[in-house]
Amino acid sequence: MAKWECTMCGYIYDPEVGDEENGVAPGTAFEDLPADWVCPLCGAEKEDFERL
Ligand SMILES: [Zn+2]
Repeated sequence: MAKWECTMCGYIYDPEVGDEENGVAPGTAFEDLPADWVCPLCGAEKEDFERL
């Protein structure tokens, strides 16, 4: 699964890690994140992420 980078702050979403603080289990692909998921660091929306 691909990692995605926030173009606003540089945070990298790693699907192997997920985003457990925000209810996203490890193993969740970026494409499968809820539409209202935002960057945990800066609040940017999914469309502000770039596939690595
Ligand atoms: Zn960000």
